[in-house]
Amino acid sequence: MEFNRAGIDLHIHTTASDGTLSPAEILQLAHRLKLGAISITDHDTLQGIREIFPPPDSSGVKVLAGIEISTKSPPLHRVTGSFHILGYGIRLSDPVLNQTLDTLQQARKDRNPLIIGRLNELGVDITLAEVMEASGEEAQIGRPHIAKMIINKGYAQSIDEAFDIYLGFNKPAYVDKYRLGCQEAINIIRGAGGIPVLAHPFLLKIADSPSMEALILDLKDMGMQGIEAYYPEHPPEYFEFLSGIARKYDLVITGGTDFHGKLKPDIQLGSGSGDFFVPYSVYENLLRYQQK
Ligand code: AMP
Ligand code: ZN
Ligand code: FE
Ligand code: FE
Repeated sequence: MEFNRAGIDLHIHTTASDGTLSPAEILQLAHRLKLGAISITDHDTLQGIREIFPPPDSSGVKVLAGIEISTKSPPLHRVTGSFHILGYGIRLSDPVLNQTLDTLQQARKDRNPLIIGRLNELGVDITLAEVMEASGEEAQIGRPHIAKMIINKGYAQSIDEAFDIYLGFNKPAYVDKYRLGCQEAINIIRGAGGIPVLAHPFLLKIADSPSMEALILDLKDMGMQGIEAYYPEHPPEYFEFLSGIARKYDLVITGGTDFHGKLKPDIQLGSGSGDFFVPYSVYENLLRYQQK
């Protein structure tokens, strides 16, 4: 059947966070690409998924409600990369989830002027007002929006370069923000009826396999139920490694492109940089997990 050929994409950002396509545009594109299922996983907001959930029958694409929450690394693990936990199948009306997201959104708002202040001190002539104007009213402003303005003003050639010179972890304009602990994020997602999944393990920047396995085991003890094994930046052997761990510990595997539209121009919806593919069966397995 057609769904199986076209695959799915369970990691997508919209204009509600730091993507450049609206939720409606994502749904249309997914339909055009004949994707079987998608999930909107905006950073710290449900604003985007709310716009297309539940989807009209005519869309022809299954939609799973999602979220991506930035967390702190648990104390005994040394993680310098991006620690994100995805939540699938969450109830959008859950009060605890919504209150928590309000707090996280406020933390972003508090951080942005501090980042801009650092940039100004470094001689980068940029204002928060112009970043906000360029990003659209609804967006949860994040570093990618600021990176884009840095490029527009000629201080960097690409998003990667803007992160490398200014915005990345421990770079001169890096400002940390309030984050949930992993246990807290997992509890909140499960409390809202969702399935917590460790996002893009590769981006955690954990050097060796035993450390990654130990981290995953600790997260499972906290209630985490899945691993994002399919990810465009995961080499085939890394995918195999994660799938093996998932089998060993009875975790579900998920996957998606982390589509951000023009903010990650090399990544296409559903197909990543060209040959990426997540089978429809991954979506069906995930639904089965939700009933556990
Ligand atoms: P923020 O939510 O403001 O902390 O920004 C997080 C987003 O920035 C992530 O979704 C990534 O897409 C992007 N990002 C983080 N680190 C880098 C990097 N080194 N290069 C390019 N993009 C990055
Ligand atoms: Zn993002
Ligand atoms: Fe992420
Ligand atoms: Fe993401």
